[in-house]
Amino acid sequence: MADLGNFTNTSEILRKYQFRMQKKYGQNFLIDANILAKIVEAAQITEEDCVLEIGPGIGTMTQYLAEAAGQVIAVEIDRDLIPILEETLSPYDNVTVLCEDILKVDLAALAEKSGGRPIKVVANLPYYITTPIIMALFESRMPLASITVMVQSEVAERMQTGPGSKDYGALSLAVQYYAKPEKVANVPASCFLPRPNVDSTVVRLTRYEEPPVEADDEAFLFAVIRASFNQRRKTLVNGLVNAGGLGVTRGQVETVLEEMGVSPAVRGETFTLERFAELSNRLLRLRK
Ligand code: SAM
Repeated sequence: MADLGNFTNTSEILRKYQFRMQKKYGQNFLIDANILAKIVEAAQITEEDCVLEIGPGIGTMTQYLAEAAGQVIAVEIDRDLIPILEETLSPYDNVTVLCEDILKVDLAALAEKSGGRPIKVVANLPYYITTPIIMALFESRMPLASITVMVQSEVAERMQTGPGSKDYGALSLAVQYYAKPEKVANVPASCFLPRPNVDSTVVRLTRYEEPPVEADDEAFLFAVIRASFNQRRKTLVNGLVNAGGLGVTRGQVETVLEEMGVSPAVRGETFTLERFAELSNRLLRLRK
């Protein structure tokens, strides 16, 4: 296998194609073979698996994935990278490269390409799309098994934390509703070309077969969660009422909080996932 996971080979291929890095696409290419091996190992890929890679770049991690998986679908937004990928992935007949914006792709339709196999997502994510793409993957109807991704360390923290931490928010709750989050590795900036100015962490999110709490309406639960964190310094009641769109009145929210034995002055950031599920189920019943 042509190993692109080092500074020399990566620089050489970038020079050969006179490729210009695009900051707007969050292009920081991995140049550390140990980290690459660790990511692929953490993703627990077998020949039975279909892998979706978001942002293959020059194909460095794609090569590792193609060696381990039955099938790889790689979605890359930057068309200047396509000729490079044609060269670096030419030894593999199990890789399909699509030149698209992953945020605009119909994920359920993409999943049909896997022939019904559960999909493992693996990515060194462009940081500007981390939250929207993770939410979209979970909310899509694709048969998702796990997501193993490189994210900013601060975001990894947010995924794992609970009430009482300043990092706790809508992303924490969404991740913990759908999956078990685990840190796989801390990755220093020196493992990338060019070096990012933040620290990075690889996390694996293993999807639960059943969410840990029962929500009568998932979309409403997440609307309540988002509204509660929109105005962090406001009370939960104000957050929910001011959000509009939820269709609940101040009186209804106060009634539900009283039923739950919670002070009307409570802030959303103190609520656990269980509490949010209870709150949204009760509000739904009142709204009907
Ligand atoms: N996987 C490569 C690696 O590890 O060296 C590249 C990772 S780099 C951090 C992120 C990649 O995602 C870049 O190739 C970038 O062009 C691509 N990208 C950025 N935004 C994207 C989007 N909306 N859809 C698909 N790919 C995107």
